[in-house]
Amino acid sequence: MRGSTRGLVVSLLGTVLVVTAQAPTVSAPRGDTVSGTLVATVADDFAAGEDTDGLGIIPDEDPTRFVPLAGVEAADLAVAPGERVRARGRLAAGGLRTAASGVRPLTARSAPSEGSTPLVAPFEEPEVAAAARTTSLLAITVRFSDGSGGTVDKARLSRTLFGDGDSVSTYYSETSRGSWTTKGRVVGPFTVSGSTRGCDWEGWGDSARDQAGRTVDLSAYTNVMVVWPTAACGWAGLGHVRGPYSWINQSTPSVLVTAHELGHNYGLPHASSYECRDASGRRVTISDRCSVVGYADPFSAMGNRGARLHHGIHRQDLRLMSTRNVAYDEATEVDLAPLYAAGGVRALRIPRDGRSSYVVEYRRPYATFDDFASASAVATGVTIRVDQGGDDSLLLDTTPDTRSLDDAALQVGRVFEDPTTGMRLTLEARTSSLASVSVSWPSTRTPPAWLEGAGRSRANVPVWRPPADLLRP
Ligand SMILES: [Zn+2]
Repeated sequence: MRGSTRGLVVSLLGTVLVVTAQAPTVSAPRGDTVSGTLVATVADDFAAGEDTDGLGIIPDEDPTRFVPLAGVEAADLAVAPGERVRARGRLAAGGLRTAASGVRPLTARSAPSEGSTPLVAPFEEPEVAAAARTTSLLAITVRFSDGSGGTVDKARLSRTLFGDGDSVSTYYSETSRGSWTTKGRVVGPFTVSGSTRGCDWEGWGDSARDQAGRTVDLSAYTNVMVVWPTAACGWAGLGHVRGPYSWINQSTPSVLVTAHELGHNYGLPHASSYECRDASGRRVTISDRCSVVGYADPFSAMGNRGARLHHGIHRQDLRLMSTRNVAYDEATEVDLAPLYAAGGVRALRIPRDGRSSYVVEYRRPYATFDDFASASAVATGVTIRVDQGGDDSLLLDTTPDTRSLDDAALQVGRVFEDPTTGMRLTLEARTSSLASVSVSWPSTRTPPAWLEGAGRSRANVPVWRPPADLLRP
């Protein structure tokens, strides 16, 4: 689910482990059974820029609990997060220890995820009208039985989540241009067994939801966040990916971390960057030697640099806008409106290969969170990212000689060329309200092999497919 490079490593390791460990452990450990909804999690170490993926089950018998699964990786399972499963294994501290063979679907399989299908097909993207959405968030504060870490300031947390100005509520209102509402309340503190020297996150979360549930109707909330004074977790926030729960390990929770974990709840992956080198090891904008730098995109709260609004890929994933799709071999000039304009073409999607596309956007200062200086590079150029279709978005650096990504945007008169297709993207001109970009293709190049399946006509456009079940109803 996370960065493609590391995902590949994980799945390769998983394969090796299965092959070598198959004989002695054919079946999962027996003993305990948990049935419920399979949910993915991601733990965010903002300071180190590292994340850890996990899996767990919200049990049918008690949906206030969350049972992490140990011993399995999502890549090993025949079921996907969101599906109902029965897992067999051994319950212990840290969750249910099981194996891939111990996790079985309880319902008929849904259609396979669209994320693995080619992004090229003859299809025109319909214009999307942002739908209204109301998030009811219950934040439950926790204090430890030994008193360590003190208490979380409830009034301050309430302002961070629901206040006017710099808050999570304002963040999602701005990123949706007013169509989303975030409301809720802060309760607690409830005392849980433990101290800041440990990190029994699932136990603390279960206990907090259980205690709060005696006086608050948890089912009235779409999302539940449990917050405790900073403990030895090694991460600042942990969230369900497409699920209702988050866990915040911050004595003074920030808008960045809480908005980020809600972003995971809505199904968003990380905003990362792509660091690429040529054959001689010199840094370049794009090549076939690239590595994912997790969280590195400075222009989204799904990175770890600052609570900037969502970029175009994630806004499309959240069904807040659509892109103008450029067909392979279609030479065109497009006037891009700023990403947060009320209408117009706000992002351009260009074929890259069979599984990803480039998405180009023009950011301008907007409201509270996109308060860039209007002369800063992100606001005077167009920003290019690779969309991997549900995996981390990858910001490209068009000035790879500088280490900073703050100046990643393509400036007027500059050209970005894709080495595989030969596509050339040029920022021709710009005003404060539009950026004129041209797209051209080499006339003599043989169409790439990935176009074969869909034919080689101009009708081939990169298609955004909504990540399966990205938004829960
Ligand atoms: Zn995250």
